[in-house]
Amino acid sequence: MKKGLFLSGEEKAAANYYSVFNPHTEGLIGEAADGTPSEMSEAIEKADEAYKKMKTLTSNEKAGILSRAATILRDRKEEAARIISQEACKPVTAARTEVQRTVQTLQFSGEETKRMNGEYLQLDAAEGGEGRDAYTLHESIGVVGAITPFNFPLNLVTHKVGPAIAAGNTIVVKPAEQTPFSSLLLAEILSEAGLHPGAIAIVPGDGKTLGEVMLKDERIKKISFTGSPEVGKLLKAEAGLKKMTLELGSNSPMYVDQSCRGEVSEVAEKSVKGAFAYNGQVCLSTQRIYVHEEIFDDFIQECSEKTARLQFGDPLEESTEVSSLINKKSQQRLYEWIKEAKAEGAEVLAGGEKVGNGLEPTILSNVSSTSSISCKEAFGPVVIINKVKSSEEALEQMNNSRFGLNAGVFTNDLKQAVDMAHRIEAGQVLINDVPTLRFDHMPYGGVKDSGYGREGVKYAIEEMTELKMISIKYR
Ligand code: ADP
Repeated sequence: MKKGLFLSGEEKAAANYYSVFNPHTEGLIGEAADGTPSEMSEAIEKADEAYKKMKTLTSNEKAGILSRAATILRDRKEEAARIISQEACKPVTAARTEVQRTVQTLQFSGEETKRMNGEYLQLDAAEGGEGRDAYTLHESIGVVGAITPFNFPLNLVTHKVGPAIAAGNTIVVKPAEQTPFSSLLLAEILSEAGLHPGAIAIVPGDGKTLGEVMLKDERIKKISFTGSPEVGKLLKAEAGLKKMTLELGSNSPMYVDQSCRGEVSEVAEKSVKGAFAYNGQVCLSTQRIYVHEEIFDDFIQECSEKTARLQFGDPLEESTEVSSLINKKSQQRLYEWIKEAKAEGAEVLAGGEKVGNGLEPTILSNVSSTSSISCKEAFGPVVIINKVKSSEEALEQMNNSRFGLNAGVFTNDLKQAVDMAHRIEAGQVLINDVPTLRFDHMPYGGVKDSGYGREGVKYAIEEMTELKMISIKYR
């Protein structure tokens, strides 16, 4: 496979190309365009021209494009899943789930474009405000610049593209270096669905080089970024008055209360999924679990047994549940963090060793809160399960983090659930669910180092539009 840039509604040859390898087999997947600054500028120029057309579309027309794209993607589900599976090294069963979610993200975007309502304002509440009708509307802004990560190469791109189109904007995407092909497929599908040429451009290549072009170009009105906090902060510092949404990382915490005594096996099952789904390479992966001492022993036994059964293998095999990590750097980093935790007295309850280009799904217990594997973002198949004496101690530990994206609490104590939900420092709190949970229409974003602004289709649209107020004096 050799893929160029996606510009003006079709694939175009690029000046340079780079090779994309399968992280598990190390075999060549294909060649992708290595976008140059001038190719990025051309994409922005075309997107800016296309905006003249996009901003005139009715919500019914935009909904039609997005809903047709959802149908085409559903028909091409297997092809999309295999692309994701190879470039992101994602078990093919999980890749199919990602495609199915993307179909929904497109559908939600199509539905939400019909609901971009404003409100009626009573200006006569102010002295001298009488005799006016006033209302608000959400106006499109122009070209959105999207910079996306490798871990959900189709759905996380769609979380920016769907709302941008719904809002009447155009969008230029710089996908992650490892995963250019899924986003190219999305652009192809949207064109087939009738999106105006130029309204979406895909320019793969180096993040820093192409990100700088986006930052400097006045025609880019908003940057929507998902990736590491380090890069996110850098972009925000340089963005000037451009709008900005940042979806960054986390080390998502969870508490299991002793009131869940009767459900230990069920909670353990969910926890293992939450910790090791796609090798933990998920922004909201369950990384720190705090368990009440009364049920701790049962819980770790259940988790260890279930973890040991996880099947490691080639991502394209139907039976594979965990595979290699995205690169060897990630494998080595995590391996060092495990060693550090062990040297500090942590106990290994499962895994702990390298396997293929990945790591065995690993459970650590008795981990210090200052250890790298606890306070940094693991982004890999390692979970900590620590014992606590009370929900208060759990709360303190959960909030002892520079991050705050999703958090989970398993409890049958209603007052405790509500109290913890209010006091946990996170964008989303899930009661009786693991933090590794996102539905594509819910508001989604972080506090602290986990982000800035919200996504989730309706909320992303709000952040990709400007509120305009119109007042009409009639008396
Ligand atoms: P991850 O750890 O998920 O790879 P990164 O933040 O490194 O997170 O990458 C996420 C996206 O940000 C990728 O598309 C990458 O190319 C891009 N990127 C990396 N560095 C920069 C930068 N300095 N400016 C803009 N984009 C960048």
